[in-house]
Amino acid sequence: MSPKHIIAGMVLQLVLISGGHAVADEYAHQRQQLMAEIEDDVKRTARYIDRKSFDKRVMQAMDTVPRHKFVPSHLRSRAYENRPLPIGYGQTISQPYIVALMTDLLQPQPDHSVLEIGTGSGYQAAVLSRLVESVYSIEIIEELGKSSTQLLKRIGYDNIKTRIADGYDGWPQHAPFDSIIVTAAISHIPPPLVQQLKKGGRMVIPVGTRFQTQYLTLVEKDMQGFITTRQLLPVQFVPFTGGH
Ligand code: SAH
Repeated sequence: MSPKHIIAGMVLQLVLISGGHAVADEYAHQRQQLMAEIEDDVKRTARYIDRKSFDKRVMQAMDTVPRHKFVPSHLRSRAYENRPLPIGYGQTISQPYIVALMTDLLQPQPDHSVLEIGTGSGYQAAVLSRLVESVYSIEIIEELGKSSTQLLKRIGYDNIKTRIADGYDGWPQHAPFDSIIVTAAISHIPPPLVQQLKKGGRMVIPVGTRFQTQYLTLVEKDMQGFITTRQLLPVQFVPFTGGH
């Protein structure tokens, strides 16, 4: 190869690299701004949630997962706003601060197995998958379940198993779980989910109906198997559906 060819090759490579960076940087900057907004929100809500900051690993995961890939393409430019966005079928991708809070409340560890009810866009499952060994996620709306499963595969998050079903009954084949996260609001804590939680495990669930204030609730199962619940802060989630 002549020197001219080598130089031409190098120039092409540089263009490709800087082109790639230009795109990554555009979102990286927006993501960093979002991280700062989440940190502000944590300070403002500290008295409700009993913490002044979130775990570094949780914030790192939030900073890694490309939220713009989980929102409909016409909303891509708004993907890093700290607010929920519609994902079709009357459902929403949760507000990033709430995703970070729920993730932090689960105290995820690298050897954990986590169950999520309400896959939706797949974003919450993606964030969790960066922090634990395996994520099991159930979605009741077939179309959403299929599209989020494909997306998670495409991005390469291969420690997430998904299923289309009513999540009320959990996923007994993979139980017990170190933690459980429910991302739709329900009037009560489903007994099958309590049963599928390990001793020492934690569940985060919005409890309430469309007509009551919903509270983000932390459920803890102690080493004897006793349950305590704590209402943390008022939230607004889409309803838990299905036949319960
Ligand atoms: N975790 C999602 C949030 C989606 S909104 C995300 O990160 O995008 C809540 C989701 O819960 C919706 O997709 C809704 O269809 C689903 N859902 C509601 N009731 C359910 C049930 N009984 N079983 C499984 N999923 C349910």
